[in-house]
Amino acid sequence: VKGKNSSLTFEDMFLCDALIAGLKSCGFEKPSPVQVASIPYARLGCDLIVQAKSGTGKTCVYVVTILQAILDMQKKSSSSLSSKAIQAMIIVPTRELASQVAMVFSEFKKTISDDVKVITCFGGTSLKQDSHSISKGFSVVIGTPGRINSLVDSAVLCLDHIQIFVLDEADKLFESCFSKDISAIEQRLPSFKQVLAFSATYSTTVLSQLHRIMKDARKITVLEETAVETTSFDAHLYSESSLRGITHYKAEIESMEGDIFRIQLETLFCIFGEFSFQQCLVFCNDKSILDRYCYELRKAGFSADFTSGDLKQSTRNEIFRRFYTHKTQVLFTTDLLARGIDFVNCNLVVNLDIPRTGETYLHRAGRAGRFGRFGNCITLYSSTTRSDMEQLESQLGLHFEHLQIEISYQEGS
Ligand code: ADP
Ligand code: MG
Repeated sequence: VKGKNSSLTFEDMFLCDALIAGLKSCGFEKPSPVQVASIPYARLGCDLIVQAKSGTGKTCVYVVTILQAILDMQKKSSSSLSSKAIQAMIIVPTRELASQVAMVFSEFKKTISDDVKVITCFGGTSLKQDSHSISKGFSVVIGTPGRINSLVDSAVLCLDHIQIFVLDEADKLFESCFSKDISAIEQRLPSFKQVLAFSATYSTTVLSQLHRIMKDARKITVLEETAVETTSFDAHLYSESSLRGITHYKAEIESMEGDIFRIQLETLFCIFGEFSFQQCLVFCNDKSILDRYCYELRKAGFSADFTSGDLKQSTRNEIFRRFYTHKTQVLFTTDLLARGIDFVNCNLVVNLDIPRTGETYLHRAGRAGRFGRFGNCITLYSSTTRSDMEQLESQLGLHFEHLQIEISYQEGS
């Protein structure tokens, strides 16, 4: 898929009318470059490693591929399949992302008359409940690595009928915290299956691991508006991943004297005064102080929430839903929400401290400016972390604008 074929439409991608109607009802008039580059190959059953920037529409690639494959199969086997035959499994790194992907399925399949059952399985909810929904049969299961693995391990979930296996945020899924679960799951999958991997960033190690579980993977990289199909691995291509539509800022704050919490807070207020925004995500490496920020913001009249992996699942769901439906304007979070989450109205991201890796920076910044919208990402640093900031800049090769912030902080105030 080289060069310009952005003239391709959803009608050219071996998709049925009902599904195309579903896409259009969601405002998907024209496929995005990553969709143009990947959907036709995915529909042909190829294994794919897809790299495209955050917010460019990767979810649609696998949701459409899976829905159409299920419809094709239901048409073929007039005698209905065993209801327990799973057909597709999607693994994502966070529970929030699993819920979001399930919502995309339910939007896209609204116009389809066939019954396509989609279930989510993730930690923090009862295993019994998962077993119950699994026993009722379904076509698509979306889950997080740990929960899926324990369901497989306890023989509740059988993977013998998986035909499409999706790894969304694939590079994250091969990090140490997940890799054991992923390889255990992978070993239970049938050998004949299609594997689709998606991410904005890939490391060399992850690519080699993906190749191990794929047959003859095509690599599709979407840079800017055009897609290239890479036949050989090009490390440079895979690490170069700036984000379109996003302006990157850095702001130096004082660190020597005074209360760093107060200084960051005052800086945040200045930013909110200077940048007009619809919704803002504030990332912090330290989850233990999110509640304090949130408290101060609410006191100042903002509708704010905070979330982290420490909260109980029902609270996490509720906070996620509130931000997703624009009930809150500012959400303090850890890297829990750095990846994949699609908050359409979020056009400001603030990093209270420097993200731990360059990839994390790109994923966080990618939460602003979804699907070609404009957004700003502001990273705070101090004289003590100045060298980390410089390192981040050179690693990413990104230009950061200097943001001058004058705060009226006085010690003891
Ligand atoms: P990614 O996974 O690449 O980060 P998403 O799949 O979450 O991106 O999509 C980002 C946003 O773009 C979503 O709000 C989605 O609804 C929207 N979007 C994706 N594809 C299209 C399209 N073809 N037309 C209109 N909007 C789209
Ligand atoms: Mg995504």
